[in-house]
Amino acid sequence: MTDIRVTLKKTEDKSYSIIIEDCVLNKIPEIIKDAGLGYKFAIITDSNVEKLYAGKLSDEFKQHGLENKIISFEAGEQNKNREIKAWIEDQMLKDKFGRDSAVMALGGGVVGDIAGYVAASYTRGLPYVQIPTTLVACVDSSIGGKTAVDTPHGKNLIGAFHQPWAVFIDVSTLLTLNEKEIREGLAEVIKYGVISDEDLFTFLEDNMGHIFSYDKEALTHIIKRGCEIKAEVVEKDEKESNLRKILNFGHTIGHAVENLSEYKISHGEAISIGMIAEGKIAIEMGIWNQYELSRLENLINKAGLPTQVPEYMSAEKIIDAMKLDKKSRGGSIEMVLPDKIGHMVIIDQCYGIKIDEAVIKKIL
Ligand code: NAD
Repeated sequence: MTDIRVTLKKTEDKSYSIIIEDCVLNKIPEIIKDAGLGYKFAIITDSNVEKLYAGKLSDEFKQHGLENKIISFEAGEQNKNREIKAWIEDQMLKDKFGRDSAVMALGGGVVGDIAGYVAASYTRGLPYVQIPTTLVACVDSSIGGKTAVDTPHGKNLIGAFHQPWAVFIDVSTLLTLNEKEIREGLAEVIKYGVISDEDLFTFLEDNMGHIFSYDKEALTHIIKRGCEIKAEVVEKDEKESNLRKILNFGHTIGHAVENLSEYKISHGEAISIGMIAEGKIAIEMGIWNQYELSRLENLINKAGLPTQVPEYMSAEKIIDAMKLDKKSRGGSIEMVLPDKIGHMVIIDQCYGIKIDEAVIKKIL
């Protein structure tokens, strides 16, 4: 027998900065030029964001002598798929993007996920920059390096971990979002309050009006805290072996509700419903208390998000859907649960707790 060992133990520094600054969009090309990130830039975006911000960014690149091309696809989750990924790659191949190129992901989570996945695989990996323009993307999808596309078998099933070179958040770009998109992001921010930061939770209770009047200071505050919390969690557990699971609060039941509604219930709405249902499970298990669950319910209501599982969804169907989810472990259902606002319970050093089906049935 011949055994040739390929030793690949290496420590790689994949650290990056999240820059939150008003009008930072104009400064990105200069920062990228100074850092020597690449010679040619693919600005990947969707049809809505293209009209609003892509031209401006492209012009700024040109002014700094940096070659770039806008590659835009039709907006919408239905386009976060393998076909559109291949189409984007074909545009880049035709335009002779090589290994000295870099990707700019300009848009919401759909753009960030697909552009990130293109960057992960194009010429076996290009650097990429996240420029999130929705609240969801600012506080969630642009951080953590999860990239993916959807398939007819489920969402985000094909993808890769690929950390961005940097994240640039220009709060001004959020001013063109409609209220629905603000609510989508708020669901995640409320989640951050529950899992990690009671002060953020209280800030949301006191400032919902400011947030919905697009007050830049209030938006900047929740984005900053959201990013800090996600960064801290990802830093400690990049590949979701334990702590990162706390980010899934509300998502176990939420994903099932989202799936069973055939995506008529949005992700933010579904995880709001999920947070309340999972909160009730925490109470049933003697982990959490009714007073704090009521605070959560009030806050979700204030954000204009739902709290009730739709009547047409039976407990059995939800349980079946949860078992099929990526988050189930060996066929049993796992959840992360709060023991107080700002803190998640740990049992036997694990955040993920196996939940008895009988408890779920009782709650649902
Ligand atoms: P999205 O990207 O579809 O954006 C929502 C809508 O807002 C789109 O129509 C878009 O064109 C529009 N839009 C974007 N920016 C705008 C702006 N500044 N002004 C006006 N309109 C604007 O959806 P999303 O909610 O940002 O992201 C959802 C996606 O993110 C899902 O595919 C989800 O799977 C993914 N996601 C990924 C992670 C991760 O860790 N990678 C985490 C959470 C969510």
